[in-house]
Amino acid sequence: MPQAFPQNPVPGDESAVTGLVHSVESCGTVDGPGIRFVLFLSGCSLRCRYCHNPDTSCVRRGRNRSAADVLEEIARYRDFLLAAGGGVTLSGGDPLFQPDFSKAVLKGCKGLGLHTCLDTSGHLGRNADEDMLADTDLVLLDIKAWDPEQYQALTGGELRPTLQFAERLAALRKPVWLRYVLVPGLTDNMEDIAELSRYAARLGNVERVDVLPFHQMGRFKWDELNLEYTLKDVPEPSVELTEQVRHVFRREGFPACVH
Ligand code: SF4
Repeated sequence: MPQAFPQNPVPGDESAVTGLVHSVESCGTVDGPGIRFVLFLSGCSLRCRYCHNPDTSCVRRGRNRSAADVLEEIARYRDFLLAAGGGVTLSGGDPLFQPDFSKAVLKGCKGLGLHTCLDTSGHLGRNADEDMLADTDLVLLDIKAWDPEQYQALTGGELRPTLQFAERLAALRKPVWLRYVLVPGLTDNMEDIAELSRYAARLGNVERVDVLPFHQMGRFKWDELNLEYTLKDVPEPSVELTEQVRHVFRREGFPACVH
């Protein structure tokens, strides 16, 4: 399994930490509240079969940038983001694959007075130290499947670290938006979904749940990278199935959020 790749912290100057940045989006609307500046970082410890960004989960792709350079760019959008009720989201890939870099950027964003989100699978939750979480206002936590075997088959990794991270966030009362990608035949078991919804409700810090219907839009990236895409025959979930799954979460008191 891939590990977080080495950083190069300079003692006393966190902004000099460098990281591999795949791309940025200055007006994101689906990765946290308001308008978001989204930083897509390279590298991920999982290999999800439906990954829409297989090019970001590959560490070789991306541009090496310092936290100071990234923060300078973000600062240009500061007033706009504040006026739009938004902030900055670290996504990827998985930002916890480059924890020192993510930490420096999050800290700098808080210094700019901006709201911060960490979009992660939680698989590398151990890489998020207390300081990093103190500079994170909201975690967008992807729980890919409830059944551990299904999780492994879908992502190539273990479910347990994600749940441990979820429980740690709950103990810290850190706000979480849970995300669940609905894939027909893979993550549509209603009993598993009901269990996940009860688990999320018990955590006490999950503010909303986004059920995201699987789609084939990322497929071309797999072809471009010459990677085998194993879900080509999987249909998108019907509107009825998606609504049924959202209803399961609504029953536990979560608002019905639709992207
Ligand atoms: S966690 Fe996200 S970025 Fe990583 S492989 Fe899965 S879908 Fe792709």
